[in-house]
Amino acid sequence: MASRAHPEKSDAKARVCNWCGTVTGSCTPVGIVHAASGPGSVLCACPHCLSRHRFVPLDEHPADSIGTVFSAQPPRA
Ligand SMILES: [Zn+2]
Repeated sequence: MASRAHPEKSDAKARVCNWCGTVTGSCTPVGIVHAASGPGSVLCACPHCLSRHRFVPLDEHPADSIGTVFSAQPPRA
């Protein structure tokens, strides 16, 4: 029996972190970019960026959120 390189869930798609560019299967959606035409896109953060920037995961946003990225710390000056 061949062992799999990634034993975690097979439905975890590898995604690119929108902040550092790391490709990982454990990116967390943290916001939505709305486009004037066509569908927007979801911004994802890897576990490192999630804690570094203290992003609030998208599924924990208030019900009336439009997908703006929330952070527990102010942006860098
Ligand atoms: Zn990252």
